[in-house]
Amino acid sequence: MTAGNDDGARRREELRGNLAQVRVEIAEACRRAGRRESDVELIAVTKTFPAADVCHLVALGVADVGENRDQEAAAKAEAVATAGFEARWHFVGRLQRNKCRSVAGYAHMVHSVDRPAIATALNSAVESQRDDRLPVLLQLSLDEDTARGGVAESEDQPLAEQVMGAGGLRLAGVMAVAPRDWEPAKAFDCLAVRASRLRQIAPEATVVSAGMSGDFETAIAYGATMIRLGGKLLGRRHDVGYPVG
Ligand SMILES: *Cc1c(COP(=O)(O)O)cnc(C)c1O
Repeated sequence: MTAGNDDGARRREELRGNLAQVRVEIAEACRRAGRRESDVELIAVTKTFPAADVCHLVALGVADVGENRDQEAAAKAEAVATAGFEARWHFVGRLQRNKCRSVAGYAHMVHSVDRPAIATALNSAVESQRDDRLPVLLQLSLDEDTARGGVAESEDQPLAEQVMGAGGLRLAGVMAVAPRDWEPAKAFDCLAVRASRLRQIAPEATVVSAGMSGDFETAIAYGATMIRLGGKLLGRRHDVGYPVG
């Protein structure tokens, strides 16, 4: 599955080049923002790409990978582990209650807790199969269009309190996707304000997961500590039907 043939070797070199370019752009964005590169973690969003790509990325030093659909993620996590590579799986997609058990089995972090029923289901899934607490982020809806995922501002605090009281979860921070018709600066400024308000009740919730291929530089300027890059790193996706937020 890995670089045992020419195609594999070619793909690894392609990913090596993309990664080098991405690293330069992250470094420049950090410099402009007066931030340290070590304060911004890169998550490679590998949805629609094969397990072999994840193996290449791990070999190239990117062990944090993101997926948005449980079925695909579970199969890929198993294939990558079988190939002998250790990746940390970040679940970044819309969660359904009946997927929580499966996600709790492989996730290193869940970025998309956005309603009480999901916090409850994820907590019991973790408590029944893991000894550690699962780090989770609250996904915030910035435009209050919660049908596209994310919690509305008035519910930030109750949901945070629920997660803080859940024995299987650890509130690590917040995540958001910039609404399509908003300037990224407005979106990530709004996210930063809500993140700092939440830190008043949850000082340990320091992660801000924000920024995708098209807007990660702005996200870094507004304090993102995790950026989630798909296309910029892996190339074009053939993913009609994959909702991004
Ligand atoms: C697909 C996806 C990304 C990556 O998007 P790109 O534009 O390809 O960088 C980031 N976050 C979430 C939640 C996604 O679903």
